[in-house]
Amino acid sequence: MSPTYNHMYEARQKFKPKRWYGESDANYGIFRGLIYNNNLIFERDIFADLIIAEYKFRQTLQQKETLERNIRALEKLPENDEDEKRLELCHKELETVKRNHSQNEQKMFADESMIPPGPLKRDYDAMRQDPTWYLRKELIEDCVSRGGCCARGCDCCKNRAVAYYKRGVGHCTADCGCCASERGFEYTVGEKQQTVDQLDKMLRSRNPSYVVKMAEAYFVKPPEKKVQKVPEQIQKEQKDKSQKKKVWWKQLV
Ligand SMILES: [Zn+2]
Ligand SMILES: [Zn+2]
Ligand SMILES: [Zn+2]
Repeated sequence: MSPTYNHMYEARQKFKPKRWYGESDANYGIFRGLIYNNNLIFERDIFADLIIAEYKFRQTLQQKETLERNIRALEKLPENDEDEKRLELCHKELETVKRNHSQNEQKMFADESMIPPGPLKRDYDAMRQDPTWYLRKELIEDCVSRGGCCARGCDCCKNRAVAYYKRGVGHCTADCGCCASERGFEYTVGEKQQTVDQLDKMLRSRNPSYVVKMAEAYFVKPPEKKVQKVPEQIQKEQKDKSQKKKVWWKQLV
């Protein structure tokens, strides 16, 4: 009997693969649906396409930021021919990166538009009201495992949330400047493409583990942290309440 995956995932998870995920059927082709909230079924590619588009959008933003930083540093140096050439190259590269970034933004918009308007889209939008949405356990762990800045103490990922840009912000990609200086080299174009290809392969695998984990991280708000109130805070609230009551009585009189 083929696995149904139903019991392989945590009970509190909102996403589960549809029964027979990845199996083919002579009449219907291959099933690749994810069940959301136990009652809605979405095509896996909605998630895979969006997560890849978001990765690429983040990637060009990080390229842009690194180039702009390099340009600022070069401009501060006293004039010398070699630096002038490097500066010129950086400006040229920046122009290309800006074009790619703009295209990635359009692609991201297109893929976001493929989320049917309804509960899933509402949850997606609600989550993004918080600029730190991506600083959640699953995505931090993902960044650590890839050797991103979350694996070190530089706080780059956290700082992106409060930086100038509101979209394309998130964890490190193969183009993070801080990661490159930590590694001591920049990835080649081919190596960067391999990273995207691998992400694509994991998300579209017949094994739904990774796509389920990422769909959960991108669409489902983590449970609220229960913050225990400190005694002084409780005392203050009680005091405030009693003061309000007094005012209310006074108004009646
Ligand atoms: Zn860093
Ligand atoms: Zn990084
Ligand atoms: Zn990170």
